[in-house]
Amino acid sequence: MSTTPVVAVVGSGPIGSAYARLIVEGSSDARVVMFEAGPQLTAIPGESVRNIADPADKERAREMSQGPQAGAFRESLGIPAGVVVEGMFTARGGTHLLDFGGEGAAHAQAFPAAAAATNVGGQGAHWTCATPAPSFSERIPFIPDAEWDGLIAEAGRLLHVQSAAFADSAVGEAIRALLEEEYAGQLPAGYGPSTLPVAGDPQPDGTMRWAGADAVLGSLIEAGHPLAERFELRDLTLVRRVERDGDRVTGVTVEDLRTHETSFVAADVVVVAADAFRTPQLLWASGIRPTALGRYLTEHPMVISTVALDADTMRRFATEEDLDAEKARRSVNPADPVAAVNRIPFSEPDHPYSLQVMYSESTPFPMPAGAAYADNRWGYVNMGYGIRKRPRVEDGAIFSDDELDYRGMPNFTIEYALTDAEIAEIDAATERLRRTGGTLGHFVAEPRLLPNGSSLHYMGTTRIGETDDGTSVADPYSRVWGVDGLYVGGNGTIPTANTVNPTLMSVAIAARGARALLATLGARVEAAAASPR
Ligand code: FAD
Repeated sequence: MSTTPVVAVVGSGPIGSAYARLIVEGSSDARVVMFEAGPQLTAIPGESVRNIADPADKERAREMSQGPQAGAFRESLGIPAGVVVEGMFTARGGTHLLDFGGEGAAHAQAFPAAAAATNVGGQGAHWTCATPAPSFSERIPFIPDAEWDGLIAEAGRLLHVQSAAFADSAVGEAIRALLEEEYAGQLPAGYGPSTLPVAGDPQPDGTMRWAGADAVLGSLIEAGHPLAERFELRDLTLVRRVERDGDRVTGVTVEDLRTHETSFVAADVVVVAADAFRTPQLLWASGIRPTALGRYLTEHPMVISTVALDADTMRRFATEEDLDAEKARRSVNPADPVAAVNRIPFSEPDHPYSLQVMYSESTPFPMPAGAAYADNRWGYVNMGYGIRKRPRVEDGAIFSDDELDYRGMPNFTIEYALTDAEIAEIDAATERLRRTGGTLGHFVAEPRLLPNGSSLHYMGTTRIGETDDGTSVADPYSRVWGVDGLYVGGNGTIPTANTVNPTLMSVAIAARGARALLATLGARVEAAAASPR
């Protein structure tokens, strides 16, 4: 091995970016080459598209992230001309359905809303930026509490987490007061209604600059910064295989999607952070197939609704003047209608769900003129309970050796079912949603369970575990069992049943992996320097 270590990172989302940043920051000489199958959307790599002010530019950035569903952009993204997308159903803006309906689409009837983003920054260029930390049984039992708290703090630093975002919103405060009153004495101390931590940097004018992979990469993408010299990002470059010599990784085989040329890039360590379906897909394509690969898929079943805030109820805790001041402040940034985000976090034993309440001046769907509560002066809350899914070996992706997807990678079928345990909690959460919504106002969209896959939080498919007993893909430091120099990153590493938005947790797991990686790199470099040449 050369004395200048090279780390190949596959995927440019928040998790690949966390590895890149921590490796370059934590080593005096390691180089990181990051490969991303999608295009760079913004001048600053990985920036949240929510920060793009011009609606046409924003729409364009979203469409370019949609891989096979990227319309007129598909050719420039290296999508083969023959790929056909059937039907009208698309995913949330900036993402594309895994089962988009044409040849080479994944088979996901049991998990139909499953979607991905293919662009620099990954889903992290499109995310809502909610960054609560896991609690109670959501935490990983085999990582000591004190260490975990430090990892969460490190993840918060990387993601620019603000725990009191929008705390100065009088309407947001009134919503919290109403929820506190309703649930007084029924939730453990510290787990009642609170502001939802979000990733971003509040601006002097009261708006938020939302964090994407750019925030995580930090100095690595600052022009002229010395650390930037040891970081390289190659967009529109698909990693086709992780290569090995025996049980040791030697690098990656990549395809430049502009020229379709394939080449080998040597690396001492490879980190695959290519999302919860495409990470196991790449390992499978590389002949790395631990028993648990792709299995134990979990997400957050979600029950959602929209409520028009009731004027009399709100006036118990906020004044008309407060509302006018809030509207004036929000008019600075009409493109970003979210004004305050509250929550009631997961707690045990009585509240095994997490509630998110987003206050907004408009509904997320058009309301017919004259409909009850259209143009509601006090605005609306879009509310949802996230419910946990127990990990089961039966749920997950089955990869094929015979059928290829639209990119020529092994295609897969997603198997998934809700069990009685989830259905009971979904029913209980639906009742809660009725109660919580009724506390705040009038339903303009009734509570409904979203189709499987809607959460965009897919976990467990490359889960970490304490022992190599067939129920995990990697060890507690995210090192793939049995393959020296290979790490996995992303929501797929999360092994628990939980309701927490997963990115902060995945960055914390990645921070632990990066520390182990740096320790190994150092030892390898010393060994290489000491060995006779
Ligand atoms: P990703 O961000 O998905 O990035 C993976 C990247 O790998 C992609 O860009 C992909 O193109 C690339 N890739 C895949 N295969 C290859 C290959 N073979 N070669 C090269 N590159 C490859 N999470 C939260 O915690 N809070 C939220 O509020 C929240 N809201 C969300 C809202 C939306 C609309 C969406 C879409 C997601 C949301 N999420 C949220 C999820 C969050 O975005 C993800 O948890 C996070 O982005 C995961 O980061 P990642 O780096 O593991 O993967």
